[in-house]
Amino acid sequence: MATAIPSPPKVGMVSLGCPKALVDSERILTQLRSDGYQMSPDYSGADVVLVNTCGFLDSAKEESLEAIGEAMAENGRVIVTGCMGNEADTIMERFPEVLAVTGAHQYEDVVTAVHAAAPAARGAFVDLVPDAGLKLTPRHYSYLKISEGCNHRCSFCIIPSLRGDLVSRRPDAILREAEKLVANGTKELLVISQDTSAYGVDIRHQPQIWNGPIGQGREVRAHMTDLAVALGELGVWTRLHYVYPYPHVDKVIPLMAEGKITPYLDIPFQHAAPNVLKRMKRPANEAKVLQRVKNWRDICPDLTIRSTFVVGFPGETEEDFQYLLDWLEEAQLDRVGGFRFEPVEGAAANALDGAVPEEVKEERYQRLMEKTAAISAARLQAKVGRTLPVIIDEIGAPDEDGDIGATARSQADAPEIDGNVFLRNISADVAVGDIIDAEIEDADAHDLFGAPVTV
Ligand code: SF4
Repeated sequence: MATAIPSPPKVGMVSLGCPKALVDSERILTQLRSDGYQMSPDYSGADVVLVNTCGFLDSAKEESLEAIGEAMAENGRVIVTGCMGNEADTIMERFPEVLAVTGAHQYEDVVTAVHAAAPAARGAFVDLVPDAGLKLTPRHYSYLKISEGCNHRCSFCIIPSLRGDLVSRRPDAILREAEKLVANGTKELLVISQDTSAYGVDIRHQPQIWNGPIGQGREVRAHMTDLAVALGELGVWTRLHYVYPYPHVDKVIPLMAEGKITPYLDIPFQHAAPNVLKRMKRPANEAKVLQRVKNWRDICPDLTIRSTFVVGFPGETEEDFQYLLDWLEEAQLDRVGGFRFEPVEGAAANALDGAVPEEVKEERYQRLMEKTAAISAARLQAKVGRTLPVIIDEIGAPDEDGDIGATARSQADAPEIDGNVFLRNISADVAVGDIIDAEIEDADAHDLFGAPVTV
């Protein structure tokens, strides 16, 4: 008699927040899939809906609560996890019918809650997990989380109280995961953590043996530079995010100049004025950063630096803000995101005096954005006429003349946060994830435009 295969329960997932939360969602889904669950693309087909929340800013919390409300209205069987899970009372007060609330990185708890809400049909015929786990990002790029938590105590940030001190993954585990991702089609690895430059401090940079096709049993230290060297051997783009300008960062710049890792550094400077940085309690807060940036560019002229800045931090004076604008003029950062300071519940900065009025914050924010857009436009204009490698993210349908366009990115563009390279005249055999050479024909303040180089 044929074995009846029970239909597996279906789980819906709403993932909010930063790339780190996305990686958590991927891990939860990978576990559930290996436990025999199927994913539902919509609320109506789901037996239970997971909402992975972000609780970093009050505005993010509000967005998370709205997402929970929508899932409750559309489905009614909802489990909440992620950063806002640490505020179970707020959630349960507003949505008493929520089935369970678990905090960030409590994978087992979320999985247990799903099992309780919609018991899995076990059997030999449940779907197998793909080798590299399930991914929410497109197949051609993948986030690679190297550590969790943070040893710093920036006064505006509650991440250490939500996620605890730095806990680094073993280098061999990271490299094996990276090898698998590459074997499964990843062309670009995005290294993420709360503080990439601090990687391995908690495990005393202890070396481990990297087995696998490329590692071949060699020792790799749990250190950012050693990890960058090893990742550089995988033959794909490797982008470093959340790096602080500690002295050892100098050592990865030659790797970028040699083309081993992507010439791109995401450094969240947040401000430049010494007074403000001091009140923010920022790590690697030192006066010589501008000189370091200049030295990096001497070694690797194509280096792209992305950063974020906060305006209107308590005590920020007009002189401090002007210092930041002058610093940016000198530093010529390629990509900049701006935030107006927002007090986050539980952050030490809330007790600081010198609150900046909202209209002043807004005015400074506009000036910051004007300044950084002008720098970005000039830096992109300098690329017109050059030939650059680009990775294809999306291919359009042919227009009435049969011309196919594509959305791509250069090495200067991280997915979802930076600009794009818009291409015309793509040949029909180009696929998403291909890396091709493109001639840059035009630029605006954030994006480039061009066409593939024809040989
Ligand atoms: S470095 Fe500062 S801002 Fe970043 S996670 Fe740590 S405490 Fe928060």
